[in-house]
Amino acid sequence: MYIYRARVFDTPTNPFTGGQLRSDTDIALVVDDGKIIARTDIGTATTAHPDAEVIDLRDGILIPGLIDTHVHYPQIRAIGHLGKPLLEWLNECALPEEEKLVDDAYARNVADEFLTGLIGSGTTSAMVFGAHFASAVDILFARAAELGLRMTTGLVTSDRNLPEPLLTTVDRSLSESQQLIDRWHGQSRLRYAVTPRFSLSAGPELLAAGGQLVRDNPGISVTSHLNENHDEIAGVAQVHPQAQDYLDTYDKAGLLDRNTILAHNVHPNDRELARMAETGAAAAHCPTSNSALASGFFPLRRHIEAGVKVALGTDVGAGNGFSMFKEGVQAYFMQQLDPNGGQPLTSAHLLHLATKAGAQALDLDDKVGDLSEGKRFDAVLVRPTTGQPLDVGITNAADDEDALAKLFAMGTPADIAGVWIDGQPVK
Ligand SMILES: [Zn+2]
Repeated sequence: MYIYRARVFDTPTNPFTGGQLRSDTDIALVVDDGKIIARTDIGTATTAHPDAEVIDLRDGILIPGLIDTHVHYPQIRAIGHLGKPLLEWLNECALPEEEKLVDDAYARNVADEFLTGLIGSGTTSAMVFGAHFASAVDILFARAAELGLRMTTGLVTSDRNLPEPLLTTVDRSLSESQQLIDRWHGQSRLRYAVTPRFSLSAGPELLAAGGQLVRDNPGISVTSHLNENHDEIAGVAQVHPQAQDYLDTYDKAGLLDRNTILAHNVHPNDRELARMAETGAAAAHCPTSNSALASGFFPLRRHIEAGVKVALGTDVGAGNGFSMFKEGVQAYFMQQLDPNGGQPLTSAHLLHLATKAGAQALDLDDKVGDLSEGKRFDAVLVRPTTGQPLDVGITNAADDEDALAKLFAMGTPADIAGVWIDGQPVK
């Protein structure tokens, strides 16, 4: 049993609906077998648990483990290509790299690089966009199990409009996916997600096969892309002439429910927003990717007004890194700049989007997302080097919201001094 004595920031209540930052300068989190069994003052904690080891973290700021709701495993080596819109970027930068994961040795290296980047940035839970090859997905699951990451991922499927090595068939996608589900879903902290790449590269029959997997395997998740780019949306309408809009391609296939996360949704119509709210499907907002590919301004205000769940994703490799701090501040920048009038965001909104909202999108908020009693101890300690600008900013901050704003403005993976998942230190 451990008592973590720390300065703790989290957002158990939603700042978008009147909640605010919860900040405690000196609080004790009593952790037993990975679970926070008490959140109290240090005197009460040590009296109640005299044999527990006290770990003093007050030289940093402890926040909940960060949650990345959209990040591509095969694309770590594709980060940083500049100056291309989505479809050109896919063909020239991302897909040639994704083809290389047919080689298990290559996939093993990429899995290690990917998970190092993710965990090193303080991400403790993630919806990971997998690979087109079942063996590469199996490799990722195995490595994530060793490291203890709370990860949902799956086999990416497509049957058209991509290079031939990345294509599958309905039958093959069903059998390979089911084998991965049987092997990994529910093991360790791992869950499976049906993952059609997007409706531009997945026809109605292949999407329907994903819906069949969801019906056959209650509790598995779904992830894909939605309304990222105007050329993409026009292409989807050609592949799916019977669908009323992009979202409807997934809806017709039985792929929309509260375990569904759809990345981007930069250009939704009102019907799509209403239907997402109705089904409980979440949007993963990926602002550095939207900026890099010039996809557009994410209509955050319309999502919130429609009642759609929104969380943050890095979208590596179109997004330019694994840092959820950078993603948070970029979300803030884009809302500031949106010519249609963005949603003003405080630092509490950014922390909520990067933690609790992600837990809700992943349907994990009974376990993680904040550091309340009863939750698992997934946490990140931010402790910048003494004298560096982030340290100066936090030391001289006007109040805790201001200190948190400095953290999002200047925090990098180098400032993360500790990461715990289920009470286990992983960095
Ligand atoms: Zn993506």
